[in-house]
Amino acid sequence: MCCFVYDYFLHRQIRLTIKDIRNHNRKMAETEMVIMVTGGSGLVGQAIKTVVEEEKHSNERWIFLSSKDADLKNTAETRAVFEKYKPTHVIHLAAMVGGLFRNLKYNCDFLRFNQLINDNVLESCKDFKVQKVVSCLSTCIFPDKTTYPIDETMIHNGPPHQSNFGYSYAKRMIDVMNQAYHQQYGCNFTSVIPTNVYGPHDNFSLEDGHVLPGLINKVYMAKKNGTPFTIWGTGKPLRQFIYSIDLAKLMIWALRDYNDISPIILSVDEADEVSIKEAAEMVIDAFEFKGEVVFDTSKSDGQFKKTASNAKLRKYLPDYKFTPIQQGIKETVNWFIENYESARK
Ligand code: NAP
Ligand code: GDP
Repeated sequence: MCCFVYDYFLHRQIRLTIKDIRNHNRKMAETEMVIMVTGGSGLVGQAIKTVVEEEKHSNERWIFLSSKDADLKNTAETRAVFEKYKPTHVIHLAAMVGGLFRNLKYNCDFLRFNQLINDNVLESCKDFKVQKVVSCLSTCIFPDKTTYPIDETMIHNGPPHQSNFGYSYAKRMIDVMNQAYHQQYGCNFTSVIPTNVYGPHDNFSLEDGHVLPGLINKVYMAKKNGTPFTIWGTGKPLRQFIYSIDLAKLMIWALRDYNDISPIILSVDEADEVSIKEAAEMVIDAFEFKGEVVFDTSKSDGQFKKTASNAKLRKYLPDYKFTPIQQGIKETVNWFIENYESARK
């Protein structure tokens, strides 16, 4: 028995026997990538899921973990999940995550939990011979006193901002671990450094979440209840926001094509940095909110800015077009309204 397929390389029909097809399937199975995403239920994990479901690469099998699959603070549970799925590649997102106000309250937990998670995940990746790992740092872990724009070489140059030192030191150690695993064991572990991320599936909690989901939830409630919309702090600090779908595409690119142990910043251009006040105005526009707006300056401003350079990324992807922030905010607002009951808040 045989069948005919069109060979796009030779531009002609070719005849394949059952044996050819079996050999081909065996080769495909051998080269199948099993990509396990830790933290797959969160903001970034769900964006990666959205992107890969659109792409449908036949030789890639994606597994999206949540804390229900394994508490990655626990070594035995971590190893069990690696044993179960035997990933060839890992995108490591799982972490204790939060905005400025959660960090201010729980620096010790941020430090300990993230160190435990990172140690368990990277050691399992080494033991289970994972071919490549891409972990996630953040631009908020850079030294507080620094020159701008920040670049990838500056991570360890001085103490981080005191508001989130627990999270920052735990995240910085991922870069140290990547270098150490490479030097001693030849592991191909790297990391990316996103700026503030926002999008569908974010944590919209007022106390625990980041600024954009917090502002979205506040405007939603102000509009619904006819109450003022309160922005915390002065509104003057500056941030670069990246839409979760853009970050997802860039992280998938990094998994496939970024071949360096040292990290790479995944950020919009410096010109796209906005103040918190400007970001709040975009949320107001997206909701068409007409009520009163107040600033609660008794609340912390946190780090004034952490302007990051994406020059390294631009060397690889000079033409990558980021989603305009107004569009990303509008899509996130629509998602929040449509998923209000089930959204984290
Ligand atoms: P997120 O929405 O809060 O999601 C966190 C994910 O980690 C969830 O899937 C959560 O699982 C999982 N997780 C937390 N603790 C865990 C544990 N002990 N065991 C197993 N899984 C655990 O966070 P995100 O915004 O997507 O962040 C993803 C990565 O990007 C993190 O490494 C973060 O540091 C980094 N990052 C985020 C931002 C940002 O602005 N959001 C900026 C820069 C970098 P459950 O759903 O089951 O709780
Ligand atoms: P950061 O970027 O790591 O500092 O963390 P956030 O995403 O929490 O952003 C904090 C900045 O947004 C600070 O300048 C806050 O004063 C300001 N901000 C204004 N309103 C809010 C809010 O409702 N929630 C949060 N998390 N931050 C807010």
